[in-house]
Amino acid sequence: MIIKMVSGATDAQVEAVEARIMQEGYEPRTIRGVAMAVIAVIGKRPEYLIDKVLSMSGVDQCIAIEKPYKLAARDFQSGWTEIGLGEATLGSRDITIMAGPCTVETRDQLLTTARGVKASGGHVLRGGAFKPRSSPYSFQGLGEEGLKLLDEARAVSGLPIITEVMEPGTVDVVQRYADVLQVGARNCQNYPLLREVGKTRKPVMLKRGPSVTIEEWIMAAEYVLHGGNMQVMMCERGIKTFETYTRNTLDLSAIPTIKRLTHLPVIVDPSHGTGKWHLVRPMCLAAIAAGADGVLIEVHPTPDTAMCDGAQSLTIENFAVAASDIARVAAAVDRQVPGFDANGTYIGRGALAGVAV
Ligand code: PEP
Ligand code: MN
Repeated sequence: MIIKMVSGATDAQVEAVEARIMQEGYEPRTIRGVAMAVIAVIGKRPEYLIDKVLSMSGVDQCIAIEKPYKLAARDFQSGWTEIGLGEATLGSRDITIMAGPCTVETRDQLLTTARGVKASGGHVLRGGAFKPRSSPYSFQGLGEEGLKLLDEARAVSGLPIITEVMEPGTVDVVQRYADVLQVGARNCQNYPLLREVGKTRKPVMLKRGPSVTIEEWIMAAEYVLHGGNMQVMMCERGIKTFETYTRNTLDLSAIPTIKRLTHLPVIVDPSHGTGKWHLVRPMCLAAIAAGADGVLIEVHPTPDTAMCDGAQSLTIENFAVAASDIARVAAAVDRQVPGFDANGTYIGRGALAGVAV
């Protein structure tokens, strides 16, 4: 922690702060400039002193320099967090492709998408049953009925399921059906929900809030880890900026940043990140080149009739093209997409007996 004194602070004010710091068992190191004094506080985790010192006369600012998160920190764990999801393992060389509709609409829509995603090389099926909609008048999702359809789609396709959980009270029911619990962008800092998913032993995908900083996002992950659930993956899905052409601004720099600061896998969602289907494939490729461990893509058999997010959804055919291109970029950066060769050819079809597109 660093304490900046106001310009023109008196010696007596500086000495009083130094004395207070020593009284708490820390060591003050003071640098006196011409107009201003700065005091570095040496010792383990002095942040709790901030409030005590800020109220003292002559103090301008207290800046915490120690990282506030522990369990998520890169130095807490030597290797990457590994999370097995069907044929792919996050945190390894594998690139994991998660795809499916924004929302579960009908049995036919979901099963058609599930078959298409599987046959095109996807590893995890996504689909919302409890939907966070900006308007209370929009379709809110099928609820548990949607979870049952996801259960059936898993049986048909063999793909693990990721679906969103919105409230602490529904964690129990959602985790009975889901293989991965998705905490949506709007709930990134819903601490009661984070605590609740932290009590489960299901992998959690934590989306970045639209206005959440990198550090706040990692602190949100810390809540889940603190609950004892160490299977957390981070998902960049775009943030609010002044740009309006895209739905959000996909922050690709978050990928290497999270990987520098934490040991957690990073997924990128270019569908919500851009809001435009034609930007999804290029942003997937950029994400993989930047070091992402996987992508989350919205896919719909007929995007123009989708109940939700059709404009950012790929057709099954376009998803197959994107998956193949992802495999080629993955090979170029020394990663691999399970089921694909380095030329982007899907070779996993042999294992798909009985799954028709
Ligand atoms: C979603 O993935 O279905 C979703 C609602 O995304 P986000 O939370 O990123 O808005
Ligand atoms: Mn969506």
